[in-house]
Amino acid sequence: MKKSDFKKLWNNLLDYIWPQFCLGCEQEGSLLCQTCLASIQLLPADYQAWPENQNDFVFSHCHVCLDYHQALTQNLIKNFKYQYLKILEEPLTEILAKKIEQLNLNKNFVITNIPLHQKKRKKRGFDQTEILAKNLSLKINVPYHALLTRSKNTKPQAQLERIERLNNLQQAFIINKIDQNLVKNKTIILIDDVATTGTTLNEAAKALRILAPKEIIALVLAKN
Ligand SMILES: [Zn+2]
Repeated sequence: MKKSDFKKLWNNLLDYIWPQFCLGCEQEGSLLCQTCLASIQLLPADYQAWPENQNDFVFSHCHVCLDYHQALTQNLIKNFKYQYLKILEEPLTEILAKKIEQLNLNKNFVITNIPLHQKKRKKRGFDQTEILAKNLSLKINVPYHALLTRSKNTKPQAQLERIERLNNLQQAFIINKIDQNLVKNKTIILIDDVATTGTTLNEAAKALRILAPKEIIALVLAKN
């Protein structure tokens, strides 16, 4: 068994065997008690992640679910990201689903995520944003496609010719081999866990434009 798999299994076992303490109030019982779960408030739909004059972004909006300055938000995200506490999948997916509901988007979109670099993924044993994006897709019944791969130190897999050519222009991400019709003229919801400057989202969005979507909307759990 790989070390990363063992860690994942171990953490899952701990979830079920060990006494659990709420990440919000430290009360014994579960990792997220009902009171703390209920206390999690979404940021308003019109929350601006960056000043409006930042018009070099190629995605049309970045919607942010939670206030990263809240200790509980950071606890939830960090514990999910670095420890893979499986039990946190559900509330974090629920938060994304609630945000989609709050934004009142029509459901004609596809979901994708900012992937980890392959090396990092191997080491960690999972990709936290991929898990969330896939869970969200199932929960709200909207297709998920793995559209992106981190390109640095990664050999591109067999690509469509045109895509391969255009990929040469991109720096950070390449587009995976996919039937373009699945995405063409649709809105892409691009999921990430924590955004900072928006550069990663923007690089990913630049790569996604190759697929000729109608619009690219970023959706993140929080903004640092
Ligand atoms: Zn609590």
